[in-house]
Formats: sequence, structure tokens, C-alpha cells
Amino acid sequence: MSTATPTRKRVVLLGATGSIGENTLRVIAAHPDKLELVAVAAHSNWRKLAGIARDFGVRQVGLFDPAASAAVRAHPSEFPAGTRFHDGLAGLVDLAQLPEADIVLVAVVGTTGLRPALAALEAGKDLALASKEILVLAGKFVMETARRRQARLLPVDSEHNAVFQCIEGHSQAELSRIILTASGGAFRDWPAERLAHATPADALKHPNWSMGPKITVDSATLANKGLELIEAQWLFNLRPEQCQAVLHPQSIVHCLVEFTDGAMLAQLCPPSMTFPIQHALLHPARPPGVEAPLDLTRLFSLDFRPVDEARFPMLRLALQCMRQGGVAPAIYNAANEVAVAAFLAGRLPFLGIPQLVDATLQKSRQLSPDSLDEVLAVDEEARRTANALLATLT
Ligand code: NDP
Ligand code: MG
Repeated sequence: MSTATPTRKRVVLLGATGSIGENTLRVIAAHPDKLELVAVAAHSNWRKLAGIARDFGVRQVGLFDPAASAAVRAHPSEFPAGTRFHDGLAGLVDLAQLPEADIVLVAVVGTTGLRPALAALEAGKDLALASKEILVLAGKFVMETARRRQARLLPVDSEHNAVFQCIEGHSQAELSRIILTASGGAFRDWPAERLAHATPADALKHPNWSMGPKITVDSATLANKGLELIEAQWLFNLRPEQCQAVLHPQSIVHCLVEFTDGAMLAQLCPPSMTFPIQHALLHPARPPGVEAPLDLTRLFSLDFRPVDEARFPMLRLALQCMRQGGVAPAIYNAANEVAVAAFLAGRLPFLGIPQLVDATLQKSRQLSPDSLDEVLAVDEEARRTANALLATLT
């Protein structure tokens, strides 16, 4: 909840130099009367961050990487006069709690944004969440914090933002199931036997979306859809069997929500993240968007078909973890991050990704976590296990 009622919403953007970051900047630039950027953070790309800080007049800047933190202090004139620098994870947490901020958008790849996201909720800020990995790791604790602090959690992930739009005004009891659409990623139409030879360059050619490398590989394995189903379970308080995925190659329908009477609502917009980002930042207002809406005078079709779990075992493994609950999703996520990094570095073949995740799940202890520290310990342990197994697979 906002502590003040300024005319402009003041935004903290963690992950400002990435793909979500860039789209967020487009939305903020298009609505200078409604949005003000007050803080930005990134991992190490300080030159790009400096450009953003200058363009938007931002004087609170965070860098996670110590070498980048040292570099900015050697080049203070690259940033607006009076800039305050915040270092490391503690710096991201400080930015998430800035007294002058109303809403914090977390778009840091992976789970590094967990502590800042919790800090924002603890401080009663609105949280616009792009980093799905955070909910897969610690959904229980993030949702509990939001409830306890009566803070708003606004989904940025396009499918979840779409569900959020469809269920507004409906009670939980009226919800029957949600269906998230999947584009199918780079290998949607590849036969199974070709997948063994898929390279990082092949996996990074997403047919519909332009995104960062980790999520683009996750789209190619369909791990992204698996992570999203788990994310949806937490965001909308659903049972595993209420969360499903369907293949929809055009990425125009982002979700379908089925109600208890059998009626379905869908949300449609072009495949660009500016739509969900603007919705999350300006909710409940709907000023004109950054990009043109769908043009229904042009011929296009909307296709739906079942997702092929046999060709994409990462989806099957995610569904298994979702049903299992406890720390299984956290282990899945940690092993996937290790596997994707190894694949992108050329150290693991494409089909090694599900192999490594499966092997890590089998080697890990399953438990129901009582505390966030317990979850974080499981996350670390799973990364160690995955790295050790990686040595045997490569
Ligand atoms: P990118 O790889 O394009 O960008 C990642 C951003 O995170 C960069 O700004 C990077 O900074 C920053 N970052 C990485 N590590 C750290 C760290 N330790 N501390 C601070 N900042 C860090 O990723 P995307 O924008 O594609 O994705 C971001 C998140 O949003 C992911 O969780 C993804 O799943 C989710 N998402 C993305 C969508 C998309 O369309 N791209 C759609 C839906 C969800 P630097 O440039 O310095 O490395
Ligand atoms: Mg998505």
C-alpha cells in the first residue's frame, strides 16, 4: 500500500538494464505525468545504467557486482550529480524500501530478487513481480508477507497479468481452472531426434518474444511454462489440478480462465511486455498503451493444441514437482538455473537440461519447509548437487 498519495507513482526498477527493464522504461517514458522513476539497479552493466539514470534523472543507483560498484565510483560524472550508490544485495534491499517509492518492479533474472521483493512488501510497497523464479522458490513466504502487510502483488509475467485481469471482480469460489498459453518456444516444431543437437544459438531464436537469454532457453525447454504454472498456483491460491497449459503458437491469447459455470474469459493483446508492465504499474488505470493494439481487420487465426510433454520433459517434471509440493519446486528451479547456465556456456547439451534436473530431484531430500531460511538452504544444497552432477554429465 502506498504511504503517500502523490500524483505520480514513484517506481523502483530492479533489473533496469534487461529486457523487462527496457520495456518498463518505454512505459515510464510514455507516461511522464503518471510515473516517475526514482531508483534503478542492475548486476554489472553500469554504463547502460548510467545512461538510464541520466535519461530519467534518477539519483538512486544499485549495482550487485563489486567490480561494477568500484567502477562507478571511479566514474561518478557519468551519473547525475548527487547520485547515491547502493552495493550488493543489501543495496537492492535498501532500494526496495526507499521511503520515496510507491511501487517496486523486480525484474532481476533468477532468485536474487527474493530478499528485495520481501523487503518491498515488508515496507508496504506495491510489488510488481516479473521474476517468476522467486515465487517458485519461496511462494509461500512471499504470499504470506504480502497478506500480513496488506501489500499489493501485481503480476508482470504476461500470462499471470492476464489471469489477474480476467479474475478481477470474481470470487475465488467462482474460479474453476486457469489455462496458461505457451508459444512452444524455439523448438515447437522440431522433431524429437533433432533436439539432441540443438545449440544455444538455436534455443535463443524465440518465434514471438524478445527476452533475456535465461527465460528464452526456459521457453525452448518449456521449463518456463512449468515455472509459470507453479507461479500461478501461488499468485491465485490454486490447487495443482486447477493450473494447466495449452499450446498457442500466436501468443495473442495469454490465458483462459474457466469459471464454475463453464464459461471462459480470455485476455488478448499483441506479444509485447509493455502491455502487462503498464497494467501492473498503473493498475487500475488504463491510459493509452505504448504500442498499437491488435488489428482485427487483418486476417489472423488463433490456434490451440495440447502441449507435447513427451518432447519437453521439463514441463512434465515441473508438473510432478507442483503436485509433490514442499521444496520440490525450489529444487527444480535451482537445478534448472544451473543447467541453463551450463547449456548457454556450451558445457551441457540441450537434452542434458532435463537430465540434470531430474537427477538433482532424485538426489535431493524432500521436505515441507517451515521457514524461509530452510528454503534458502535447500536452494543452495540443490545448486551444489546439480553442479556436482554436472561434472558427471559433461
Ligand atoms: P535479462 O537477462 O534481459 O535481464 C536481467 C536483468 O537483471 C539485467 O538488468 C541484469 O543486470 C539484472 N541482474 C541480473 N543479476 C542481477 C543481480 N544479481 N543483481 C541485480 N541485478 C541483476 O532478463 P529478462 O528481463 O528477460 O528477465 C528478468 C526476469 O523477468 C526473469 O526472472 C524472467 O523470468 C522474468 N520475465 C521476463 C520476461 C521477458 O519478456 N523478458 C517475461 C516474463 C517474465 P545486468 O544487465 O547488469 O546483467
Ligand atoms: Mg510468461
